[in-house]
Amino acid sequence: MSARVRKTDNPIARVLQAAKEGVVFFEKAHTAANDPRVREVFGRLLNIRKESLRSLEENLREARLLLPEMEGQPPRIYPLEELQKKECYVCGYSTDVEAIPESCPRCGASRYAFEREITVRKAWELAESGARITLELLSEAEKLAEENVKQVLAKHIQLEQSILNETRKELESHRES
Ligand SMILES: [Zn+2]
Repeated sequence: MSARVRKTDNPIARVLQAAKEGVVFFEKAHTAANDPRVREVFGRLLNIRKESLRSLEENLREARLLLPEMEGQPPRIYPLEELQKKECYVCGYSTDVEAIPESCPRCGASRYAFEREITVRKAWELAESGARITLELLSEAEKLAEENVKQVLAKHIQLEQSILNETRKELESHRES
């Protein structure tokens, strides 16, 4: 087996990649959102993900774990392409967010048809699925880790669980889509 396979199989590397991907995703989402309420949610989520990454790296270093090199594909636990693409809400024609046409080339609807905003509920749904998958990755890594690293991961499993609970509470209060 090649080195590349061993690296992507490293469960700690996957946890770290997921944490970094969360920061990148919510940074992008925060920039892309026009609705101030949605921007505010993405801003909160960005801070949660930044803090979680920072403390995870710090705690792993304190446990004297040599942070694994991260090469290969990120886990793609967040749908980056959903932020990159916009669809005409009349006909479903899909275009890059940087190249929205003056009118839809398929149905002729005005540019306005592409300006559908991501909802607050959708923002929390993204946060919920991200936290759920991050929790799975942390649990897998914890099972295989040595004692000192196991403790670090156990602490982060608790943190992630509380993030997940918060996102579920928010989803409860944003039932209406
Ligand atoms: Zn169209």
